[in-house]
Amino acid sequence: MDISAPIYELADRCVKCGLCLAECPTYNLLGTESESPRGRIALVQGWLSGQLETTANWQSHLDHCLLCRRCERVCPSRVPYAEIMDRSKALLAKQQPQHSALQGQLLQQLTRPGAGWLFTAARLLQKTGLLWLAQKLRLDNLLGVQDLLAMLPELKAPFSPKRFYPAQGKPRGSVALFQGCLSQQVNAETLQAAIRLLNRLGFDVHIPPQQNCCGAFALHAGNEQEAAQLASANIAAFKPLDIDAIISLDNGCSAQLTEYTKWRDGENFSVPVTDILPFLARLDWPQEPLFRPLNKAVALQVPCSLRNVLRHDAELLTLLQKIPGIHLPQEAIYTRCCGAAGSYFLENPVISGQFRENAVNSLTQSHPELIISSNLGCALQLQAGLRGKNNKIPVIHPILLLEQQLSDS
Ligand code: SF4
Ligand code: SF4
Repeated sequence: MDISAPIYELADRCVKCGLCLAECPTYNLLGTESESPRGRIALVQGWLSGQLETTANWQSHLDHCLLCRRCERVCPSRVPYAEIMDRSKALLAKQQPQHSALQGQLLQQLTRPGAGWLFTAARLLQKTGLLWLAQKLRLDNLLGVQDLLAMLPELKAPFSPKRFYPAQGKPRGSVALFQGCLSQQVNAETLQAAIRLLNRLGFDVHIPPQQNCCGAFALHAGNEQEAAQLASANIAAFKPLDIDAIISLDNGCSAQLTEYTKWRDGENFSVPVTDILPFLARLDWPQEPLFRPLNKAVALQVPCSLRNVLRHDAELLTLLQKIPGIHLPQEAIYTRCCGAAGSYFLENPVISGQFRENAVNSLTQSHPELIISSNLGCALQLQAGLRGKNNKIPVIHPILLLEQQLSDS
């Protein structure tokens, strides 16, 4: 079978109406048809039909796509835009193997099991000030790792979870947590908060240690085989557990996990997989007030994976509104891409920096004391942008905020 046939079929669904153009961040920034969803689909069709060659210029237009999937939300023909791009990248990688630059390879290493020593080394370099010195002397530029290091937050103590955390009080269900490949090292507080909140709401929480990266980094880089291996390993890791659902902590991972069937020939988890935000928003909540009032001005960044892929942005607001006193006027909510976009910030640092600047400027306009983001990549991108402006506003996951506001904490 011609392996380009499925891409053709998906791309042919585009009727070239152009309704997606105004939504596309790269079209709005760069202003050419080739930087729009419709243009990129036409570039893929031209390549598959043999009318266009895969020049560096041709490739750059595909690479500039953030895969934010804002275009999918408005497309009347329901063109599966991201699937076209992922399949095209996988086909391209088969035809001409691609090699990522050093910082791309390092990022991939950081997402693999056994990367703990890299974080330990980074912690040591941060503590001794050597990392700061290296950045001041621009050694990071010399080594070509400046964009990765700029994204690195201040690393706190890592957290190695146990396999099981029992529900508080009478159990109402049993879930397993998909923690994401970076959370133990970079987002330990949120991971602990999720366990505590789920236990407090009556759920037993399992955390199988064999779980891996969800595979999103590999898939979007065109490495379909590695993404498939990671998916199979994750499905196997959760299979033996007697649970009602798999709960994913990070919107980016949730988006990938819920789409496993699309590209795994139907292979999937044996129980439903859901992001933690809609899972909690749809629960029957206890009658008694659970949270203390919040007396802080907040701003909210809505990740593309939550808004455009999972489409659970309303549930995020429902959940946050359980905190008495929280005030989120429209102008304090940012729903455009922040430019992190998986490993995009490494591959397209200039464009990514522009989107980060727009996001940080918009989110700080209302002078918040706290910024909320439910995707780790977005949170790190916003923190990097804020650091660049010497702004110390914390960026935290909504689950951490909810847990901090628990009235019995
Ligand atoms: S909105 Fe959909 S059908 Fe219309 S141009 Fe964009 S991708 Fe094609
Ligand atoms: S995924 Fe985002 S950046 Fe890519 S074409 Fe669609 S709207 Fe534009």
